Amino acid sequence: MIHIDIPQDVAFILEKLRTAGYEAYAVGGCVRDSLLGKIPKDWDITTSALPQEVKEIFSRTIDTGIKHGTVTVMVNSTGYEVTTYRVDGEYLDGRHPEEVEFTSRLDEDLKRRDFTINAFVYNEAEGVKDLFEGLKDLDNGIIRCVGVAEERFNEDALRILRAVRFAAVLKFTIEPETYAAAMKLAGNLSKVSAERIKAELEKTLISDNPDYICLLKSMGLSGVILKELDDTDDTEPLKTALKSVKNEPRVRWATLCFYLEKHGENANIGEISEKMMQRLKFDNRTMDMVLKFLRVSAEYKNAAILNENDCRIYCRRLLNAIGEEDIYSYLDFVKATRCLPDINRENAFGGLVDTVSDILEKNECFSLKHLAVNGRDIIGECGINGKQVGEILDHLLETVIVSPEKNSKAVLIEEAKAYGKQL
Ligand code: ATP
Ligand code: MG
Repeated sequence: MIHIDIPQDVAFILEKLRTAGYEAYAVGGCVRDSLLGKIPKDWDITTSALPQEVKEIFSRTIDTGIKHGTVTVMVNSTGYEVTTYRVDGEYLDGRHPEEVEFTSRLDEDLKRRDFTINAFVYNEAEGVKDLFEGLKDLDNGIIRCVGVAEERFNEDALRILRAVRFAAVLKFTIEPETYAAAMKLAGNLSKVSAERIKAELEKTLISDNPDYICLLKSMGLSGVILKELDDTDDTEPLKTALKSVKNEPRVRWATLCFYLEKHGENANIGEISEKMMQRLKFDNRTMDMVLKFLRVSAEYKNAAILNENDCRIYCRRLLNAIGEEDIYSYLDFVKATRCLPDINRENAFGGLVDTVSDILEKNECFSLKHLAVNGRDIIGECGINGKQVGEILDHLLETVIVSPEKNSKAVLIEEAKAYGKQL
């Protein structure tokens, strides 16, 4: 009997359900991950008890998805989803079952699950139950649908993207019948909501094998959901870049977008990515950062940096354009996408990172908020008003970025007066 370690809280819930006369198991991802020696993110429980019965057994519960049979049981301030064995009704729209029906049979519940490696259950009394030879697939690194792949993808097209995602996360291969069914039913992906597509793509991108995102192209899926990737001829540089860039969602997206822009051939850089991100309903924060990275890297990649001083000026400009918070992510992004400027150093990337940290450590001025004067000073001391104030401040910032020693009130006011006369 295979044993896996389950958290005390989970053992407590399983035992309590069993003592009350019901069947109960840990199910799905948590069993799969435990068998792979990974620490599961969350523990799901499947049981023969009906939602109402689960609620009677535990003192603190939340009705998370009663209609679908899910009750959250609170133990020591952590919530565990306990779901009644169910059979999914007909999927008329390829997205949601019309209705779910509870069942007292574990095998019926497991049959509705997507992949053999996601259809294990476990409890301490019975060990791992493996109805669909999932253990063999887990050993061989295979993603295989439970039952007939075409039927399963027809019921819910999101499973197609889940197959790609699990392949990427686990570095597994998609079994041929499952693969062929995914290709055949790619068109059904047009019924899946933008939010769910984005979520699966992101999980693929932030996995240890982000280059598997290109499976979308080889499987003919990107034509339906990510046509920008379909239009990218050579995906090899994209794969290399994704594998080398740090594992942060926004940085991985920026790296993907860089190649979707066809290496900056498009005059209006960011246009293609912006449309894609709008279509996939990205949040503004991600969208702004991705577009900022694309635009700044295009603008700054041709700078010639000949010496230490050039490098410091360049880094201060970058800090102003990108902001302190994202600067290291940005540098990682330009390293991966090979957008480093022509820099007279052996290790350009290391040079930029060291210089940026030094600038930050020394609190050097690189943005308006560090400038020794502000708008009020300009208005008060130079008698200038209106939009010229902004122009003068920009000029002063540029002056200080080039010559940090000028960042004192007296010097900048003089500079402002002189510049103001030219306006
Ligand atoms: P992770 O939580 O690491 O993303 P997981 O396998 O736990 O992976 P969940 O989305 O949390 O995935 O789903 C829990 C379980 O529910 C899965 O393991 C699978 O058995 C089942 N499941 C989830 N989504 C589907 C689906 N679209 N079709 C069929 N079964 C599904
Ligand atoms: Mg899960």
